[in-house]
Amino acid sequence: MSGFNFDVITLFPKAFELINNLGVITRALDKNLIDVNLHDLREYGEGSYRQVDDKPYGGGAGMVLKPEPIYKVYESIIKSPKSKTLLMTPQGKVLKQKDLARWSTLDQIIIICGQYEGFDERIRCLADEEISIGDYVLSGGEIPAITIINGLTRLLPGTLGDPDSLADESHNSSLLEYPQYTRPLTFKDMKVPDILVSGNHEEIKSWRRKKSFERTLERRSDLISNENYKKSPQSKRIIKESNQFMKFRIGNEFDVYPDW
Ligand code: SAH
Repeated sequence: MSGFNFDVITLFPKAFELINNLGVITRALDKNLIDVNLHDLREYGEGSYRQVDDKPYGGGAGMVLKPEPIYKVYESIIKSPKSKTLLMTPQGKVLKQKDLARWSTLDQIIIICGQYEGFDERIRCLADEEISIGDYVLSGGEIPAITIINGLTRLLPGTLGDPDSLADESHNSSLLEYPQYTRPLTFKDMKVPDILVSGNHEEIKSWRRKKSFERTLERRSDLISNENYKKSPQSKRIIKESNQFMKFRIGNEFDVYPDW
């Protein structure tokens, strides 16, 4: 095994051709930082038709993946001691950036992709975690699996050109990222904020922190009211620094932080 191994159990291995065209992820493959091993469920199907699915007991629409082929392919995968198995399901815990960060310290992730109406309940015990990528239903677990491969790979050392680009970005510290600009200075009458071209790094830092906070408050205030966020010393500092700004913006209505 070299680098980080993703072992994916899927009925549609071709769907993963996408990762050969995804910039940073493709480079990580080329540099052998990751390996994506596709395990075609069909090859483990039963009988001459390689059957992998069947009608649900009790009736109802659609087909359900049978347990035996999934068990067979799962058992054929060599597991490292630092491995976790994730089952893709809209019934799982909704994926968060901190999950990707947590898994990035492993060296193998096995991902089981469902299809059709889902899978036989008895495969759930293979999974360490059941993961949903959001509160909607897709036709298969392949796009969720690619989402995880993509999000996790960019956290691995050596993957991004500049590791600093991870530090400030959205969801890393419960705050969304501040607004970003590149050239030209003026575009369709919209000018880059003066402060960003001032060269004053301290002020730029503080402006960005405030904008991050403002943005999060406007778009995702649910992230701010998170208990952990309130407790961390770093976030307390940010909150203090945003004090004046917050008073101006929302007056007395915002009472989540009584110590202000
Ligand atoms: N009938 C099932 C959904 C089946 S969708 C139910 O109601 O729970 C078919 C497969 O697509 C699932 O088994 C799962 O692997 C995948 N899938 C669909 N939506 C998903 C989501 N939001 N997150 C992760 N996997 C999903």
